[in-house]
Amino acid sequence: MRALVLQYYVLLRSVLRAKPLLRRCLARCRHCRIFFLTHPCNGGRKDLGCPFGCRGVHRKRQSTVRSVAYYRDALGKNKKRALNARRRRPKADGDRPTSCPGSVPVPGKSSIRWNLLMVEYVRMVVSLIEARSVSLTEIVQMLQRVLRQHSLGRRRKIDHALIWLQEHPP
Ligand SMILES: [Zn+2]
Repeated sequence: MRALVLQYYVLLRSVLRAKPLLRRCLARCRHCRIFFLTHPCNGGRKDLGCPFGCRGVHRKRQSTVRSVAYYRDALGKNKKRALNARRRRPKADGDRPTSCPGSVPVPGKSSIRWNLLMVEYVRMVVSLIEARSVSLTEIVQMLQRVLRQHSLGRRRKIDHALIWLQEHPP
């Protein structure tokens, strides 16, 4: 984990060196203190959560607090009764949600899903770096390509290690 963060900071520093204008987008997570890039309209804010987990956790907590407060309310109680009654009624075909709203399906691998918050963050950062609006589809394709190369590189490293071990047995 530490090595990953270090790698991330090296990358972040090289991005900021290449694009000094992005310095105004640099923010620090108020929960875990990691540095990250944010949208220019959030520049200078000190109350942001990082997209690497803190923001999602915080958002979930906030929505739980909100809904608890809402249902405690008498009006909310009536609404909940109506909602439960509606829920008990049989659902029509196609009424069931087909995908989890917080994730993106990985093309070609239906069993794997990406965290939408993370993909959306990558999209924003790439848009900032390339100074153009990059689509979510483009990001998904790019991530696929990068991950494929990454696993290929790792496989090659393992292969090399195996060959070396065969030639130099312990
Ligand atoms: Zn954080």
